[in-house]
Amino acid sequence: MGAFRRCPSCEDAAITRCARCEAPLCRRHQPTSHKRCRSCERDYQDDALTRNRMKAVLGLPPAALATAAVFALLFPFASGLAGAIAVAAAAAIAGSSTAATVFRAVDRSARAQFLREHGLPLPAARVVRLLPRS
Ligand SMILES: [Zn+2]
Ligand SMILES: [Zn+2]
Repeated sequence: MGAFRRCPSCEDAAITRCARCEAPLCRRHQPTSHKRCRSCERDYQDDALTRNRMKAVLGLPPAALATAAVFALLFPFASGLAGAIAVAAAAAIAGSSTAATVFRAVDRSARAQFLREHGLPLPAARVVRLLPRS
């Protein structure tokens, strides 16, 4: 938090505050709408690894399921090599588009949560909430 070098006018001539960490911000560092201050945006970037792991956990099982389901549905209609290739391609498309949908949803909800945050939340606190209580 606050690891980036703050410019002097952010301290002296602040025109706004970051909606998330409440750091004073000058006109030059004022975040555009749907953005937060540089330090918060970097927190968000730092969370990319957690998000990617979540995408793998949430996205891969339904993607594999969709692949298998399409394959099983279309396989009886596949005749010959061309048919088998077409079924495999359809299954691959179903799988990857399912994964892409989940990935987009993870990104969207992570971004929405990031923008909702207020005060000085610790990024680690969000990770802990995903784990079972011990
Ligand atoms: Zn500044
Ligand atoms: Zn901030």
